[in-house]
Amino acid sequence: MLRKFYIKSYKTLFTIGAIFAFTGAGYFFEPLDITASSIASKVRMHEASGDIIVVAMDERAGAEQTQWPWPEDKIAETVELLFEAGARKIVLAHEVPVNASGPSTRLEELTRLHADTFFVVEPAQLPADAQKGRSLVGANYLSSAEPVHAEPLLRFWGGVDHEYYAMESEGRVLQSAAAAIAGQSGNIYELYPIDFSIDAKTIPFMSLLDLQADAGLRSSLYGKDVILGFEAPPNMKPIKLLGQGSYGMATLIAIQAETLKSGKPVVLPWYVAWFFGLAIAYSVLRARKIKTQTALLFGGLLGSFAVLVTMNSFGLYLVFANAWIMIIVVSIAGISRNLREKTRLENAVHPISGLPSTDALRMLERSDLTVMHAKIRRSSELLEILTDRQQKVLAEKVSRLLNPGTTVWHGDNGRYYWLAEELSGDTAQHHFQSLALIFRNGFSIDDLNVSLEVVFGLDQRKEMSMSDRVQGATMSAKQAIMKGVQWLAYEASDRGAAKWSVTLLRELDLAIENGHIYAALQPKLDLRTGCISGAEALARWHHPTKGLIRPDEFIEQADQGGRLLDLTLCVFENALSACAPTIHNDPDFVLSVNIAPSLLESLAFPGCLMEKVEKFGIDPRNIMLEVTESSQFADDEICSQTMQQLRLRGFELSIDDYGTANSTLEYLRKIPASELKIDRKFVSNMLENEADYHLVASTIQLGHRLRMLVVAEGVEDDKTLNTLQSLNCDIIQGYAISRPLDPPDFGDFLAEYSTPDKKLINL
Ligand code: C2E
Ligand code: CA
Ligand code: CA
Repeated sequence: MLRKFYIKSYKTLFTIGAIFAFTGAGYFFEPLDITASSIASKVRMHEASGDIIVVAMDERAGAEQTQWPWPEDKIAETVELLFEAGARKIVLAHEVPVNASGPSTRLEELTRLHADTFFVVEPAQLPADAQKGRSLVGANYLSSAEPVHAEPLLRFWGGVDHEYYAMESEGRVLQSAAAAIAGQSGNIYELYPIDFSIDAKTIPFMSLLDLQADAGLRSSLYGKDVILGFEAPPNMKPIKLLGQGSYGMATLIAIQAETLKSGKPVVLPWYVAWFFGLAIAYSVLRARKIKTQTALLFGGLLGSFAVLVTMNSFGLYLVFANAWIMIIVVSIAGISRNLREKTRLENAVHPISGLPSTDALRMLERSDLTVMHAKIRRSSELLEILTDRQQKVLAEKVSRLLNPGTTVWHGDNGRYYWLAEELSGDTAQHHFQSLALIFRNGFSIDDLNVSLEVVFGLDQRKEMSMSDRVQGATMSAKQAIMKGVQWLAYEASDRGAAKWSVTLLRELDLAIENGHIYAALQPKLDLRTGCISGAEALARWHHPTKGLIRPDEFIEQADQGGRLLDLTLCVFENALSACAPTIHNDPDFVLSVNIAPSLLESLAFPGCLMEKVEKFGIDPRNIMLEVTESSQFADDEICSQTMQQLRLRGFELSIDDYGTANSTLEYLRKIPASELKIDRKFVSNMLENEADYHLVASTIQLGHRLRMLVVAEGVEDDKTLNTLQSLNCDIIQGYAISRPLDPPDFGDFLAEYSTPDKKLINL
């Protein structure tokens, strides 16, 4: 499902990327770019350098000016005055009226004198209004003047934001007035962005009137560049500057010149931002959480705007609009997809029970409650025999028991979850134990009586997401199964354990292959004779790096992973090879081996065991197969057949862990066992706990009545040993006699205690 999701997001990304490469290359979203750069300019708004001064005819000067257009000799007089005051460069952005007799010698002379510092704007470039009804000649007329252009490039929005470095007019190349002042140059019709973060209001302005009247003012012109123009209505046509209102042409030239004076702006190609947008779009698509997506969306937009502002102040220009639209479109698509998915999951129900599913639980917000989990063991076997309707009834009964009256989430494989107040250790123990007891007592569904074994896991990590906690609770229940306890709360170390359980099967295969699995042998003492009468083979795994691994940590997984037959045969062979000499010596010696119920589901199993005993020349009568009691297999046709087969071949059967499941008399009768093994849980407690004592005592009587040998395991002290002896228990096993021993130690143990004077107990 995840794979499909990624492939889908790659396809989406590819399509979107292609569409936005097209719109990016075509500058489709230019209006947005203009708005953005206007905002960016406002953010960086600063004063002009003051090195470029506008000297112009303002309203006041215009009103006093009677002669129109401004006569040529007046212009010459002003230009001369400006140069005298020390102006560095002068741009004449004012029309020059034509005299029938040719240019005035004075103006002509000035253009020759200041050929590199005096620039006359080509009249054709002046505002149309200024040309109307007048015959105007500029540089053509003034033969020595350098003609420049000042064409305000009116954009679709009605104002100016870029300028050409140079233009062509009547076969001549005119560089822009601003470029001439700044001493920069560019290609014909090459555009550069005008820096509108320079505040037009701060460009020094001097009225012609004041200049003429006040000689003191002239000193402020020293070393400055001057734009000589016309900044007053009715003859001025105002030009809209991006984000700054309307000004006359002289001011525009000043801002453009200021822009170019701080270096040629560098314009980055459109695909720089496109790549950036694609990267953000990709991460939005990949993000699984709506919060992350939203953060990426706004982070991407604000971040790139900050980048834009910063870059602009270094003279780098970038268009982001295309990338922004791409990020927004993808985010809307991605977020709405996640929203749909979220609602779908929130409303998700278990297909059979109709209870809300674990997906729904995972989507919940963090909670202060504890996530509780019940796992019904071996549920797949049970579910196989139930109809859908019966499964639904079962799920309803289970959920009502677990958390009456409130929500229970139903997962796969007999998993249930609910939320509850935190339980303290003792209460939890009591709570889960009584729940387990109720489950064990069973439910009736139609005419079926099902008894369920259940373990619990819980996760109290309030700070974690629901999804993590569901996983934590699930993992804890698995750990509880492995450790053989009723319940466990999540601990950080469980994660390592879970990792281990993933690699475990592979490691187990290697261990079987390399002989790292062997059988430890725990002696059994016959209380009637006082002699060691046999031993139980217990699986041991000697791991090269982890050391000795207990069977509880791998038997269950080996069973689920289908490795148990190999494992059992390996342990069996190992135990046979260790005990063969003893059995050949003592024909009454019994070797006990643990057989998981699942192995009995294979009719080929007896043959496999047969092969092994034949290999060592041992009579199957010397082998006791310990089968854990399980309510399911007594009724299973194949299991019964397998057991009959084993009996027919001469193997002995023992009912292991007696008392832990709810075996009935009926069950005891059905299983052709010759031995009953009381679980150590009852034995080790029998002196302290009266109920356990009675259970042990009555089981011994029951076993004898059914003509079975009764074995008590988990005998840890002499007091228990003596009590069992007085209760007529036949055989005992436990630390009081010996711990499980490695084969060489077991040999030593036997050698020591087989001599009659060294009996373990005296009768
Ligand atoms: P089990 O069959 O009930 O085996 C007895 C367990 O009790 C052994 O644990 C043994 O070391 C322990 N024990 C013996 N005497 C005492 C005592 O006095 N006090 C206490 N507290 N414990 C005692 P071990 O070896 O860890 O085995 C655990 C379980 O693993 C076994 O329980 C058995 O169910 C399973 N197992 C072990 N080997 C095999 C195997 O080869 N095949 C299968 N299917 N299961 C195995
Ligand atoms: Ca056993
Ligand atoms: Ca046991």
